[in-house]
Amino acid sequence: MGQPTAEFRHGDLRLLGFSAAGEETYIVAPELNLAFDVGRGQREVLAVDHVFLTHGHMDHAAGIAYYFSQRMFIDNPPGHLYAPELLVAPIQRLLRVWGEIDGHEPPAHIHPAVPGTDITLRRDLVVRPFEVNHPCRRHRRDTVHALGYAAIEVRRKLKDEHQGLTGPQIVELKNQGMEITRRIEIPLVAYCGDTAPGDFLDLEFVRRAKVLLLDCTFLEPEHRERARAGYHLHVSDLREVLPRLNNERIVLMHLSRRTALTKARDYLERELGPEVDERLCFFMDFRRRSGRPAPRQSDSRA
Ligand SMILES: [Zn+2]
Ligand SMILES: [Zn+2]
Repeated sequence: MGQPTAEFRHGDLRLLGFSAAGEETYIVAPELNLAFDVGRGQREVLAVDHVFLTHGHMDHAAGIAYYFSQRMFIDNPPGHLYAPELLVAPIQRLLRVWGEIDGHEPPAHIHPAVPGTDITLRRDLVVRPFEVNHPCRRHRRDTVHALGYAAIEVRRKLKDEHQGLTGPQIVELKNQGMEITRRIEIPLVAYCGDTAPGDFLDLEFVRRAKVLLLDCTFLEPEHRERARAGYHLHVSDLREVLPRLNNERIVLMHLSRRTALTKARDYLERELGPEVDERLCFFMDFRRRSGRPAPRQSDSRA
């Protein structure tokens, strides 16, 4: 059976996807032409040209080969996958092995994502990777951290000292080669993937993103230890985390399938008291009623 797709909207931003811990997580922003994590390669992900992988855990990464292969079948140009640097070579090997099994290696663009180095998708849109607090892979005894990604709108605004100038005056300054505008960044959405709390929550473009997608895998009081051991957030972490955040919406995701959403809301209220932060919501609360249109064969679980 296909997973029910959730659809969350905030202003112009639309996020489609699914998220359950250990099972599958992917978030698609169709208007931004990008996806965060690939999940098992569901239909919504195939439609976008850019996929940003946070780490290699199967629930986030299983559909990589399927994504590239299906893009070829539906005559879309090869997709672009951005992944933590250490995963690039293994992913290339994975595609070669699939080529042996399937008989055809799909064309693919795979790029290393480096924390703090912007990836330009459009003149007015960049994606900025940042390190989160979840192990990606061990490398020479060091733990390499998983990545989060922020999609940031970039605008140019007339500098304050030039406000009030007429059109011809502005053209004149431009002709003199003067820089009359300044760059403004509007962080639209920050996706933290799997993570425990960490310093990344103090990054300007994360804590001020209009929408923040945040791990909240564990809610039961007895699961605090498990949250720490697995580098995930526990709902009790929110008490310390929320005051640091200036987001308009904070969308909790990656919940365990064991916890029903009604129960999850109870835990949230119990944890944060009667004045539960209005910005908070659970991503899977936005499930579409009708679910996915027609489950594909590849969705069936043997
Ligand atoms: Zn996960
Ligand atoms: Zn993980």
